[in-house]
Amino acid sequence: MKYCPKIGLEIHIELKTRSKMFCSCKNDPNERHPNINICPVCLGHPGTLPVINQEAIKKTIKTGLALNCEISEYTFFERKNYFYPDLPKGYQISQYSTPLCKSGFLKIEGKKIRIRRIHLEEDTGRLIHGKDHSLVDFNRAGVPLMELVTEPDIESPKEARKFAEELQLILRYLDVSNADMEKGQMRVEANISLSEKGNTLGTKVEIKNLNSFKAVERALEHEIERQRKILKAGKKVIQETRGWDPVREITFPQREKEEAQDYRYFPEPDLPPLEITQEMIEKIRAEISELPQQRRERLKREYGLDEKSIEIFVRDKDFGEYFEKVVSELDPNLPKEKLLRQIKLATNYLTTDLLGLLKGASIKGEDFLITPENFAEFIVLIEEGKISSKIAKIVLEEMFKTGADPSHIIEERKLIQITDEEKIKEIVEEVLRENPKAIQDFKKGKENALQFLIGQVIRKSHGRVNPQIARDLIKSALDKI
Ligand code: ADP
Ligand code: ZN
Ligand code: MG
Repeated sequence: MKYCPKIGLEIHIELKTRSKMFCSCKNDPNERHPNINICPVCLGHPGTLPVINQEAIKKTIKTGLALNCEISEYTFFERKNYFYPDLPKGYQISQYSTPLCKSGFLKIEGKKIRIRRIHLEEDTGRLIHGKDHSLVDFNRAGVPLMELVTEPDIESPKEARKFAEELQLILRYLDVSNADMEKGQMRVEANISLSEKGNTLGTKVEIKNLNSFKAVERALEHEIERQRKILKAGKKVIQETRGWDPVREITFPQREKEEAQDYRYFPEPDLPPLEITQEMIEKIRAEISELPQQRRERLKREYGLDEKSIEIFVRDKDFGEYFEKVVSELDPNLPKEKLLRQIKLATNYLTTDLLGLLKGASIKGEDFLITPENFAEFIVLIEEGKISSKIAKIVLEEMFKTGADPSHIIEERKLIQITDEEKIKEIVEEVLRENPKAIQDFKKGKENALQFLIGQVIRKSHGRVNPQIARDLIKSALDKI
């Protein structure tokens, strides 16, 4: 029997705003000192009144537009009632019947994953469990939180991971959230069921505590296996919530399902409903700059970059922007082929050598000293054969350390390629004089003797002789012997 998985994701995202959702407390949920960004409103004291954070509304609409959603013209908040120690009011202000955004999609490798809804709510406090006690920190209580729900269109753990990764990238491009999973700024819950091909959906299980992209993928893989075994044995999967143990790599039961009616949703009486005008929507739409997928397509179209480099430049937005600044410093009036060669060289040196030197640090960091202009000059020196790739490494390291411009480094350290033939001939003659055995070997037909001699010439010139020229000159000298 062949079962196919159907996966739907529910993703919570902490918005990056100055203040909390319904009060003016600082939005800084990862503040180390507990309970300092709090006030009577976010602590749910009786008699206090919430006020809607407009910035959070805007950022949610922005996200919805980037994900091809319809924006509700009329929307209101509701109370979701339940008791838990991290929820001081006894209810969470959320949205149920009128989510701000609905019916969108995100394409993953050309396939549309439908987005059912995105709504806005407030985050809860944080519980810290000790050995014989629990502590509660309300710094996070009332932080604006988006919840995004997909349709069960995802069909593999890998696709689920890609969806989450692409979403994170979009959130960062939009600057609505840092969306760091390890910091809890983006929290993924995965619903999964198995069904026979073409049949209706099977019973789903919801998996919680997924703190990384890897956890999303691994937990789903594990859950597919668990459910497959149950179904193969002719038993039924029970609908429940399971947790993920990343150390043992297993899911374990947490609780059986609660229904929406258990929460007794009703409109929040202390907040006015919102009317979102077309004008407001268009204003927000105009603020959306290039999104990751558009950037991928443009980098391919404009510079003909390969897939791997495109991914590096798209995932690290600042790095991609640096690349484009370097290109803009190249001479646009060059013959097309030459310019493309320089762009290709720039791409290679950025994505290998420079990335290696950066060791994960940001190009925006204060320690990064190479100006795009200097980097472009460096590329031209290589492309025009003024420095060999060996010398290029030395120059780049020096540029990275000091920020000096490449021609200055070359001059100072006498690294310029020797192009004067007479000079190279002198070196060749010297090498031949010192290596009679290699000459004999070559005459006997040993090809690697030639390679050895070329190596000697390059060494003697401290890498400043072009290997091709060295080869030609050695060969013609050997012919005469
Ligand atoms: P619930 O009522 O249990 O919250 P919803 O219909 O609201 O379920 O869906 C919650 C999430 O679960 C959505 O992301 C949805 O796509 C997904 N989902 C719903 N049914 C299934 C199913 N049978 N298999 C996989 N995912 C599902
Ligand atoms: Zn507050
Ligand atoms: Mg639901």
